[in-house]
Amino acid sequence: MNRTAVTCVLRLSKSAPPPRLLLAASRPLRVPLPCPTYSNDVRVRSYLQYLKRKVRPPSRPPYHDHVCQVGDPVLRARAADVDPAAIPGSEVQAVIGAMVRVMRRLRCVGLSAPQVGVPLRIVALEYPKGMMADVPPAAREARGLSVQPLRVFVNPRVRVLDGRTALFQEGCESISGFSAAVPRYLSVEVSGLNEKAEPVTWQASGWPARIIQHEMDHLDGLLYIDRMDSKTFINVTWETHNE
Ligand SMILES: [Zn+2]
Repeated sequence: MNRTAVTCVLRLSKSAPPPRLLLAASRPLRVPLPCPTYSNDVRVRSYLQYLKRKVRPPSRPPYHDHVCQVGDPVLRARAADVDPAAIPGSEVQAVIGAMVRVMRRLRCVGLSAPQVGVPLRIVALEYPKGMMADVPPAAREARGLSVQPLRVFVNPRVRVLDGRTALFQEGCESISGFSAAVPRYLSVEVSGLNEKAEPVTWQASGWPARIIQHEMDHLDGLLYIDRMDSKTFINVTWETHNE
């Protein structure tokens, strides 16, 4: 049996009664099946989107329930400065609120406004105690993890404090399901305005410094894939595909 046919059967088994398909999978296939490929997935998804929109109008930025995915032009544009006078206003506050909500919902430790569909220079980060508990102590130390309260920076600027770099595997909610090793400076200082339009400066090292560098890149239309060691790029569930 050729590999393509096996793949087809295994994929089909998700949507049909298992016993029959297991039987079918154990028999040689005489005719290669047309594989349910990307284009079919897209067709199914488009139909589901169509049904969803019959019930509910399409959502608009700032998105409250998802993160824009690579390919979306908003992730490749330079985000615009925010007028400081507009920070307390309802529009900017709605963007910040959406960022925090999505970040917590997806259990990610940083997010930028372009990722919720808004090309403005705003980033947020937070490393809650509960997430730290999931990381073994040795890994915490190696990566320089530390619990961090919620921080929001509007129009942030970064200054490198320690020009040495560390290479660690990182991911991005906008490139869902993948990760790669990316070099980042060990220590940086970020300054800007907070969510109340007050000037703030913060010095970060270790993992928090990595998070802020990653989020700052988003504001310039850069993604970690532009900086990664490409041979370390992985599908985070690659092992399950062989099960
Ligand atoms: Zn990201």
